[in-house]
Parts: sequence; C-alpha cells; structure tokens
Amino acid sequence: MSPRPAPVFPDWPQFDDTERRALDRALSQGQWWRMGGTEVETFEQEFADHHGAPHALAVTNGTHALELALQAMGAGPGTEVIVPGFTFISSSQAAQRIGAVAVPVDVDPDTYNIDVAAVAAAITPRTRVIMPVHMAGLMADMDALDKVAADAGVQVLQDAAHAHGARWQGKRVGELGSVAAFSFQNGKLMTAGEGGAVLFPDEERYEQAFLRHSCGRPRTDRRYHHQVAGTNMRMNEFSAAVLRAQLTRLDAQIAVREQRWRHLSALLARIPGVRPQGDDPRADRNPHYMAMFRLPAWSEERRNLLVDRLVEAGIPAFAAFRAIYRTAAFWETGAPDETVDAVAERCPNVDAISQDCVWLHHRTLLASEQDLTDTAAIVAELVAAV
Ligand SMILES: *Cc1c(COP(=O)(O)O)cnc(C)c1O
Repeated sequence: MSPRPAPVFPDWPQFDDTERRALDRALSQGQWWRMGGTEVETFEQEFADHHGAPHALAVTNGTHALELALQAMGAGPGTEVIVPGFTFISSSQAAQRIGAVAVPVDVDPDTYNIDVAAVAAAITPRTRVIMPVHMAGLMADMDALDKVAADAGVQVLQDAAHAHGARWQGKRVGELGSVAAFSFQNGKLMTAGEGGAVLFPDEERYEQAFLRHSCGRPRTDRRYHHQVAGTNMRMNEFSAAVLRAQLTRLDAQIAVREQRWRHLSALLARIPGVRPQGDDPRADRNPHYMAMFRLPAWSEERRNLLVDRLVEAGIPAFAAFRAIYRTAAFWETGAPDETVDAVAERCPNVDAISQDCVWLHHRTLLASEQDLTDTAAIVAELVAAV
C-alpha cells in the first residue's frame, strides 16, 4: 500500500490584489494616521455594520481593545473582573494592567465556555465586569450571563477575539447589547498582523473610549486640551485598509469552516478516546477560530507528544491554553487574594481541559473535505500510537 499523501492546508493569512490595492490607496492619501486619512474611520463603520453595532473603535491590538473597553466600563483599582480560567492570557492581563483584580472561574467541560453558575458564585460587591470568551468562535451562554449581570448590576464585556461574524440566537455580536472586543492579530479570523476593535452599543462609553485611546484628546482639539487620562492606542491607516479587504472574505470563509467542522467533528467523535468541542444550538453561527478536541483522562505529557506527532505529520496542531492561574504572569499583579490551589480547586474543568485538549489552526477547516477525512485518519492513527 502506498503511504497516504499528507493533507494540504491553505496558508494563513490570505491576501490578493484587494489588499495590494488597499495598501496603495492608504499610501496615496499622503497622511498615514487616522486623524489625517479615512481608512480607519471607514473600516470602523464597515466593521460595526457587519456586526450590527452602532459604534466601533479600531485600536492597536486585541489586548488593548480589552483594556480600553474595561476602562470605559469603569473597571480599575478596587474592582474585580470575572474571567474564564481557560483563555488566552490577554483576558486577565487586560484587567490586571488597568489595576483591577482578575478573578478566574471554571468553564464547561464540553463547550469550554465560562460556567454561568461559577460566575454567579464569584460575584462580590467589587465585581464590575463579567468577561465571557467565545471559545474558538462558539458563543458563551449570553442569555444566562446577561441575566446574572443584570441581577448583580454589573456589565458584560465579550472577549470576541475568536468570534468575528459569530451569532447567538440569530443576533450578531454587536446586537447583544454588550461591549465586545476583537483582535486582528496574525492568527485571527481576519488580520492585519496586529490590530483590534471594540464594539459599543452606546454613544457614552464609545466616546469615553475614543478619548482614552487618543491621549485623552477630543478629535478636533488643536490646543492640547487633554480631558481624561489616556494613552495612544490608535490604529494606523495601513492596518485599516488591509482589514477592509479582509472583512470582504470573512463570511464566505465562515461558511466553508462551518461545513468542514461538521465533517471533521463527526469523524473525530468516532475515534475512541477523542471528544470534539461540544456545540450549543443557540450559538447559531460559529466562525470556528480553532478546531478543538479533548482526550479526556490523558496526561499533559501524552497530549504534548500527540501534538508533536501531529505537527510532524504536517497538521497544524497546538496544545490548548495553560490555565491562566498556572502561569507566573498571573500572580505578579491583580491576582485574587487566594492560593493557586484554592483557585484550581474551584476550576477542575479548566485544569483538565488545559492538559488534555488539542486545537488545530482554522486554516485546517479551509481545506478540502478529502483533506479533512485524511486528517481525521491521521489523528486516529496517532491517538492509538502515542
Ligand atoms: C488573541 C486573543 C486576545 C488578544 O489579542 P491580541 O491582538 O493578540 O492582543 C485576547 N483574547 C483572546 C481570547 C485571544 O485569543
């Protein structure tokens, strides 16, 4: 029998003459920052429209988008922000950077999204914001989270770094009534290498954020009247021009990834010991930032070995996020007044998922159905072998 050819996956990021023309357009404006050009402003309008939000503010990156959103929501020293223990570290670092305490809670063992009962149990008089992360594009339970937040009088900030184009019960991210932060870093579903954006349902927090992201200075100020404390998080014109081109590809790519994930996850589910990320029928559009699966009860060492073997076989596989409270960074500043063991004890699913979960880059889900059939066969072979 001849060996199976290795599956072929498209490159990421993708670009064509649309990006080339966009960059040329930005260059020719002669002014390369948002105050002089029109690309950033136009991108903000297009991105807001695409997600059904009244306002979008483009910024330097997704971590800054979270920091800025949290500030506009009144988080800061003396307040707490509830985050899932299983996420990329920016979710908690953003809160800690602005002087708040990041409080990690457990996630669901099937969807890997923040556990609503754990959120409710973690609320204190100091809680200002609940930050769900739509893990790999699967929307967190927004109905239940909105209710918990409303009952407690706190706000919701969606970390939508994985969720460009996602929907919850037919509603787009910007139609859910909460603030949402996005990333356009190189690996994200649309990218300019770096970049971020915040969607706002209201004018007031949007205007706050605009001031703070531009050194506290009103748009038309020429006399250095800085009104609030801030910093420079302004997006440049080149990034916005590229992102306008990237946005035109998003919907078609989501349609492909949704179809391919149905195919791949059904095959993965048949492999003994493999459990693909679960679904929630209310999350009715999932852009699939990652193709994730668990190997329940596997050790971290065995999982890591599998990832190495998958990479050797040409599959873009990665070990899942380490629990944020199991990094040195988390404890430097803005950690809760608890031991790591106490936090771990109330986050058993975070500990389990972070050691037994594998994810495949979303470019995997842009490959042909045959390539995904082959991918599943390789996963089956290596799972049995390591
Ligand atoms: C990528 C990511 C961020 C941060 O975005 P950057 O643009 O890299 O700063 C925040 N949260 C999550 C969940 C992410 O995956």
